[in-house]
Amino acid sequence: MNFKINDNKEERYDDYGQISPNFHYNEFSCPCGCEPKQKVNRKLLENLERLRFIINKPIYITKGGGIRCKPYNDRVGGYSQSPHLKGKAADIYIKPNTFYGLIDLAHKADKVGFTRIGLYPFSHFIHVDIIPPSPSNSWVRDVNGKYFYFTSLATAIEFANELT
Ligand SMILES: [Zn+2]
Repeated sequence: MNFKINDNKEERYDDYGQISPNFHYNEFSCPCGCEPKQKVNRKLLENLERLRFIINKPIYITKGGGIRCKPYNDRVGGYSQSPHLKGKAADIYIKPNTFYGLIDLAHKADKVGFTRIGLYPFSHFIHVDIIPPSPSNSWVRDVNGKYFYFTSLATAIEFANELT
């Protein structure tokens, strides 16, 4: 799938409005309303569009699950090097928001090229990003907020299955 974002003035996508065929900047914007606004990374968007295409239903971004400025990220207890700070990550879900729906979404996110996938079965979303695995490329957050790291999505899913 190919689409272009603001390569020239004739494109209908722009950095802070409709940023791709199925996503608007407002879906990603930092909840605190800070300025200047961080852009959404193009590779992230391209992967989200591919995922939107193969899952064939709307993908929703959680509040604060798109871009976060440093103060907001600190306030919500985000990792200090979080890719959300750079517009390179999204916390997403589909409706109806079921465990098996999330697992299906994670499988498909893996297929379209997201490099890291975090499973949050008790918060009902998955984290996807495009930064290199370090070395884990998948993780699961349990009901108590404890993180477990894995080098394959399959083992992360197996683990999440046992928790739920
Ligand atoms: Zn902010």
